[in-house]
Amino acid sequence: MDIQKKIVMSGIRPTGFLHLGNYFGAMKNYVQMQDDHECYFMVADWHSLTTHPDTKALKENVHRVLAENIACGLDPDKVALYCQSHVYETAELYLYLNMLAYKGELEKTTTFKDKVRLQPDNVNAGLLTYPVLQTADIILHRASYVPVGKDQEQHLEMARNFVQRFNHRYGEVFPEPVAFNFGGALVKVPSLDGTGKMSKSENQNATIYLADSDELIRKKVMKAQTDSGPTASGMPKPEYIENLFLLMKLVSAPDVVKQFESDYDQCTIRYGDMKKQLASDMALFIAPIREKAEAIRHDQRYLREVMEKGAEKARKSAQQTIAIVRESMGLNYF
Ligand code: ADP
Repeated sequence: MDIQKKIVMSGIRPTGFLHLGNYFGAMKNYVQMQDDHECYFMVADWHSLTTHPDTKALKENVHRVLAENIACGLDPDKVALYCQSHVYETAELYLYLNMLAYKGELEKTTTFKDKVRLQPDNVNAGLLTYPVLQTADIILHRASYVPVGKDQEQHLEMARNFVQRFNHRYGEVFPEPVAFNFGGALVKVPSLDGTGKMSKSENQNATIYLADSDELIRKKVMKAQTDSGPTASGMPKPEYIENLFLLMKLVSAPDVVKQFESDYDQCTIRYGDMKKQLASDMALFIAPIREKAEAIRHDQRYLREVMEKGAEKARKSAQQTIAIVRESMGLNYF
């Protein structure tokens, strides 16, 4: 019997180099889901316009994100890998959803408040309605699962609110989407300076990018904050040390992590050795992705084929949804 596959949707903005946070929060799950789910993964180029008025670098960044996704194991024949701006139906659904989103709730969004602080001279309406566009992206394919990092939890909650409102007003059209991670809990990959998360555009010296050379990775890791070590057994770890262990769990073998945990407990830990090990394991993890992505990034013909194929699959699904939406809203005049 052909059991219908669950629909999955997620996106990454082409605003810079992808990093370990993007990998463990998003892409690793994309790759794990591609065989058993109907997957739509997009490069969120419209979203990047809210903070990135200089569009000259967009083409290169879009190509980079596509190449890095494929280098991480995403197969464009199994999933729809496409650019947001190639699927115009997104904009139509965004318009309808905007009528169901209220100024007060949008202004309360944490990411909106952060952006207002960061770019007080560019508080545009697109920035305010970012969660609405994101909801349109997700429900355009009537997706149930959204593989994302922990930073996106609030946006997913808003998406569910908009979906409930739409369904209540116009009939049960959309499933309520949930954030998804294979490990259960959503992931937040911390930055190396002990504060906040790794991010494309902030804290570049404390973020490990998938394009970083072995040497650069070593330099960044060796600069991470440590101290003179625990002085008594069972001492809780300060956040910056906890973060180093967290990063180690992502890239190092379990017995390596166990050894350093035990050294910590016995107050014999040498942070210099731990950072050397972490840097070496990170470099081993990243090198093959970096090399593969670099080759794909320059193959313009292949990338064009990927984008065309992806857009075609995404449009097909989007057009089906839009037809249902118009019908349910009463926008059918023939
Ligand atoms: P960024 O915040 O670096 O610009 P995006 O907003 O494009 O990245 O997010 C792309 C995906 O990567 C989202 O699913 C987001 O949750 C995830 N992500 C970004 N940074 C991290 C992080 N430090 N830890 C876990 N997931 C992350």
